[in-house]
Amino acid sequence: MVDQFPQALSIAGSDSGGGAGMQADLKTIQERHVFATTVLVAITAQNTLGVKDAFPLPTKIIDEQFAALDEDLQIKACKTGMLADVTRVKAVVANLKKYDFGPLTLDPVMIAKGGAPLLSEDAVIVVRDELLPLATIVTPNLPEAEKLTGQTINTTDDMQMAAKKLQNMGVQNVIIKGGHFENDNQSSDFVLLSNGRSFWLSAPRVNTANTHGTGDTLSACITAELAKGNSVEQAIKISKQFVDATIRDGIKVGHGHGPLNHWA
Ligand code: PLP
Repeated sequence: MVDQFPQALSIAGSDSGGGAGMQADLKTIQERHVFATTVLVAITAQNTLGVKDAFPLPTKIIDEQFAALDEDLQIKACKTGMLADVTRVKAVVANLKKYDFGPLTLDPVMIAKGGAPLLSEDAVIVVRDELLPLATIVTPNLPEAEKLTGQTINTTDDMQMAAKKLQNMGVQNVIIKGGHFENDNQSSDFVLLSNGRSFWLSAPRVNTANTHGTGDTLSACITAELAKGNSVEQAIKISKQFVDATIRDGIKVGHGHGPLNHWA
């Protein structure tokens, strides 16, 4: 088969405010010169001030989106973002088992920065037991890593232990985003690769309200880089640099947690 232009897939929820979710994924994948395709799982009514409402889509249309993509496109890497609830997680798991869309980057989106739940409590176990083993890489922040492992994370040693635990649960590679440590003037992410190698990725902490969609942008960038054929290690390093640049020069949009600067 003739090689096509690289194509990636975002399986996620829509953010009407444009800063996070599916919208952040589309922009990021496009910026990395990869063709973006989508399976929309839920719709949120949202702006920079917060999430007003969320509507998970019927599984029939979720299944049909996957089937339509499989029929025609050559998707080389995929990611999951907001998956809403047990029913939607199970639908996505079934489709990812049915079709081959390349390596899966699992962004275990749980709670928006404003506090709105984007994944129901009872769905965390399903993500852990059924989706995690399908993933090539998982990209939790500290609260998400705590939920998935059942372990409290207060120190960098705790982060390393949690990464090992996640790997033991069946995911090949792990990046735990340390951006949430208090009183830290660095944001340090811990990376544990499938071959056992590990390293820290650090960047000076930026004092900004423009961090909406940071996690989505990182996981979408990793997905795009994997779709181009980069290794997991290359994809992670490129994506960390990309996200740091988008955080540094925030743009003025809305009145709350503003979006990233995708032109940085
Ligand atoms: N809305 C949707 C649909 C998302 O997928 C996400 C994050 O993944 C968010 C909102 C939350 O973004 P943040 O926590 O960066 O504000």
